Amino acid sequence: MVAPGELFIVSSPSGGGKTTIIRGVMEDLRRQGRDVHFSVSHTTRSPRPGERDGVDYYFVERSVFRRMIENHEFLEFAEVHGNLYGTSRREVEGRLERGCDVFLDIDVQGARQVRAFLPTAIKVFVFPPSLTELRRRLVARRQDAADTIELRIRNALKEMREYAEFDYVIINDRLEQAICDLAQVVATSRLRPRSMQASVQPIIDSFARALEEG
Ligand code: 5GP
Repeated sequence: MVAPGELFIVSSPSGGGKTTIIRGVMEDLRRQGRDVHFSVSHTTRSPRPGERDGVDYYFVERSVFRRMIENHEFLEFAEVHGNLYGTSRREVEGRLERGCDVFLDIDVQGARQVRAFLPTAIKVFVFPPSLTELRRRLVARRQDAADTIELRIRNALKEMREYAEFDYVIINDRLEQAICDLAQVVATSRLRPRSMQASVQPIIDSFARALEEG
């Protein structure tokens, strides 16, 4: 019996660094021989320089996104900073049963929808260390116009106020530490009864056999 994979939902304000943290942890997990998957979302936003379709996102027209909603192809979707974003069912379904861990990099609204559908999903919120640092990161990546950056910063406050809905909180001050923190969350999740069942059942069975015999 394979232990089921875990679904990790990682949310943070734009520029909070969650994608880098997730990728760091996934690399460690792959080295340990774990099957892991980063869910590639669909979005109606335009690609930023360097972003690749099918790798960073599936970039689609609004009409295509709407049709996918009508066809119930999304596990969750939300409007974020004026664009539509969604996790398609095929990014997640099937993988968890096979024992693959799936990481979602989605906003607070999406996190809420996924948790309603899958209560065992683990929700992690990543904080930027300060407003100055968040602005510095958003400006440094040179990917968004000034008004887009200001909109993202205003939305950051709204999103951060929702942190208490999450299971774990990480402050992304130093990247290495933040990666360690998320790795610890992943390690702890493996100690939940649902993940330990395959390992503990033989122990229980051996006790039962021995005591029945005795
Ligand atoms: P960005 O445009 O900076 O790539 O992402 C903007 C925000 O949309 C981020 O907070 C990101 O986590 C969120 N986001 C990305 N993909 C999804 C998704 O599939 N669903 C939801 N609800 N939010 C998403």
